[in-house]
Amino acid sequence: MPELKVLIPRADVAQRVSELGAQISKDFAGQSVILVGVLKGAAIFLSDLARNLDLDATFDFIGVSSYGNRPTPSQELMSGWDSTGEVKLTKDVDQSMKDRNIILVEDILDTGLTMTYLKQLLMARQPRSLKVAALLDKPSRRKLPLEGDYVGFKIPDEFVVGYGLDYAEKYRNLPDICVVPRE
Ligand code: 5GP
Repeated sequence: MPELKVLIPRADVAQRVSELGAQISKDFAGQSVILVGVLKGAAIFLSDLARNLDLDATFDFIGVSSYGNRPTPSQELMSGWDSTGEVKLTKDVDQSMKDRNIILVEDILDTGLTMTYLKQLLMARQPRSLKVAALLDKPSRRKLPLEGDYVGFKIPDEFVVGYGLDYAEKYRNLPDICVVPRE
């Protein structure tokens, strides 16, 4: 395994998450929100973001996986996540989304396939509003047009780990966001 390089140190992540929390708190002042985290990568971002909200906030979680051709970890590192575009729900939310303010919380926007699928799925449940918060965004990899409403950092097309993001389920607990160099 090549040596990891720090891309975004923990202090910068904390600063940006607090800015995102302040922005969301301002936009939803006086209202309640449901933070819906996309398992598993968004778990750490969600827990830090939630503590930066000056709002009545509840949590829920949703799980997805890609049909068919999720690459092996080493392929994933070389070419990024490259799904067929078919996303499968593995865990639904536990509560009704009707007339609620939903903030979908994701670790990283890459091709946009996962978030496009989740937005369509949850919009069909008639929420009052639906916004996307993503810690990271790799706009150069987009296959479907999608913009996050609250984005932490735009990053180049690198494979990153840490702060919830994994490589073969490892490194989610690293406090900094690190690049796995492609050799
Ligand atoms: P999308 O559907 O936007 O292509 O994929 C989003 C998902 O791909 C993310 O939630 C994450 O699981 C995975 N992903 C995309 N880029 C990276 C990356 O650089 N590192 C890691 N660990 N996962 C990534």
